[in-house]
Amino acid sequence: MSSVQIRDVRKSFGNFEVLHGVSIPIEDGQFVVLVGPSGCGKSTLLRMLAGLENITSGTISIGDRVVNNVQPKERDIAMVFQNYALYPHMTVAENMGFSLKLRNAGSDEINKRVKRAAEILALGPLLERYPRQLSGGQRQRVAMGRAIVRDPQVFLFDEPLSNLDAKLRVAMRTEIKELHQRLKTTTVYVTHDQIEAMTMADKIVVMHDGIVEQMGTPLELYDKPENQFVAGFIGSPA
Ligand code: ADP
Ligand code: MG
Repeated sequence: MSSVQIRDVRKSFGNFEVLHGVSIPIEDGQFVVLVGPSGCGKSTLLRMLAGLENITSGTISIGDRVVNNVQPKERDIAMVFQNYALYPHMTVAENMGFSLKLRNAGSDEINKRVKRAAEILALGPLLERYPRQLSGGQRQRVAMGRAIVRDPQVFLFDEPLSNLDAKLRVAMRTEIKELHQRLKTTTVYVTHDQIEAMTMADKIVVMHDGIVEQMGTPLELYDKPENQFVAGFIGSPA
């Protein structure tokens, strides 16, 4: 677990600046939801946290360490994407262990960690199945399992539920929250769904066109939106 500090971060693609100086303090163990319309820069920010995109200016720290120039593999972070693409030719257990194998973990260590993750996510009976033999919700849990086995300091989620049907989405929200309550891993969760943000977050960060419009608890944003954009966004149905 670790705090994350995002300080005055800017990002340009060529001449096009997509993040205009974003600062977000995240406490150790917090579940922070970045919410905002499509194209406002949420994924770009998350990719910078993961080290998949370089930072034009500003700093990102994880714990005491400035990570601007740290390679993704050297960051103690695990990311769950919307298109979580499991490896089709690998079993559930192999899918979950793969990132550990890439990091040269021994097979006893891999087995132990996969078993523990499977127990947390109730995937035990499915470990020898292949992805095509799983339901959508089970696949999503395997994608989370791949992140958990690493026992990272920080979890990043980029719209992990947007490909699921409405009923499953509600169930998975609860699962992800329970997972967080159990593991207490610092989490940054991106969504464009304000209901998801309101029900899951310790702290919501409302983004719009590459800036932070407001940060606060769900109740603070609901009771005291600081501007019209926040009021409109939080107040309107998904
Ligand atoms: P969100 O996740 O909030 O929908 P993104 O972070 O994906 O938004 O994108 C923010 C903006 O940056 C968009 O205008 C998008 O087109 C642009 N963008 C994202 N990645 C690239 C890239 N690799 N090259 C150029 N423009 C990009
Ligand atoms: Mg996105």
